[in-house]
Amino acid sequence: MSDTLREPVTAARPELIRPRVPETDWDDWRWHMRRRITNVEKAGRWINLTADEEAAIAGVAGKYRWSVTPYYASLMDPDDPACPVRLQAVPALGELMEFPGAEVDPVGDTYYRKTNRVVHKYPDRVIMLITEACPVYCRHCTRKFHTTDVDGTYFRDDEGGSFDEDLRYIADHPEIRDVLLTGGDPLSYQDGKLEEIVAGLRAIPSVEIIRIGSRFPVLLPQRITEDLCSMLARYHPVWLNTHFNHPKEITPESAAAVDRLLRHGIPVGNQTVLLRGINDDVATMRTLMTELLRIRVRPYYLYHCDNVTGVSHFMTTVEKGWEIMDGLQGHITGFGVPQYVLTTRIGKIPIAQPSFTRTPDGLLLRNYRGQEMVVGGAAQPITESDAR
Ligand SMILES: *Cc1c(COP(=O)(O)O)cnc(C)c1O
Ligand code: SF4
Repeated sequence: MSDTLREPVTAARPELIRPRVPETDWDDWRWHMRRRITNVEKAGRWINLTADEEAAIAGVAGKYRWSVTPYYASLMDPDDPACPVRLQAVPALGELMEFPGAEVDPVGDTYYRKTNRVVHKYPDRVIMLITEACPVYCRHCTRKFHTTDVDGTYFRDDEGGSFDEDLRYIADHPEIRDVLLTGGDPLSYQDGKLEEIVAGLRAIPSVEIIRIGSRFPVLLPQRITEDLCSMLARYHPVWLNTHFNHPKEITPESAAAVDRLLRHGIPVGNQTVLLRGINDDVATMRTLMTELLRIRVRPYYLYHCDNVTGVSHFMTTVEKGWEIMDGLQGHITGFGVPQYVLTTRIGKIPIAQPSFTRTPDGLLLRNYRGQEMVVGGAAQPITESDAR
């Protein structure tokens, strides 16, 4: 696995890419956006599609959006349909199946939607869904109902329109001190439009921190330009969380994008989704977390995959999640261990196995190696009368 990490980023099919693509184009995010892969013929330049993949691409047409940047396609194994990058970006027949209990919006974004873009679920913070656009439409997206829905049902015609109502809502609720821009991918907007939004938020005195959720560092890291970073740095404190799911996604390009953000004072965190067949084993997850630390990205959440319509085939069990958390906690540094959460209508719920049991002698503790000991004293309830 670590071998793949050290390979140059275009190792998948260098003969197809580098000779034909001047460095300046490869480094230009607009070039990748213009040349996104949206059909079988274009995909065929990068990977050898299986019959099932071709059937799935035809099957999702008219239902879910599909698009892949040349950069992300270059990370795919051309001959292995089980490649973890490929599974995240190429449609699968599972998306078209009906699974029991699946819902389009199990986390209830629509229920908490207060304006066109503001979702207010927690007292002190909101998310602003500002676009449906993403450079790659991840097949496992929790918000599949609006990011990859070809009918564009979420915003209708009002995606890029006035932000006045949204900003007014936030200003009218001074308890909101933390605004998370998400979508879709907020960095899909041009810098100028993005600056208008960020400046609008910064003008609200009660907004303390601005956060951006973006997968560009993974899907098209060239988008994280010096210009973008210095613009964002004018509105600090700004934080960014991205979404690496597999060590293969950590490349020289993505590391450079993270470095640009950090050098402009923007802390970078990571949210991983636990995905069947992609990262649902301890070795992959441990490598992912330690490699993230090497590029100075702080693991934040590990999301249990929700039972979202069109996404259910990626689901694992909570027991699998625990097994992975057991394989991280104590084995690597505490700040490399994300918090494992299940997102529900009532919020993100941390899912942890208790590492202790209360006994008459104190707390029975268990460590990462399975060793046990009883700790009395401070771990016991005490009162003044216990003092000697
Ligand atoms: C995830 C989420 C947030 C931010 O949650 P944090 O735990 O602070 O990262 C805020 N609002 C909504 C609706 C969310 O889903
Ligand atoms: S980039 Fe994020 S919002 Fe867009 S499809 Fe992927 S997971 Fe969903």
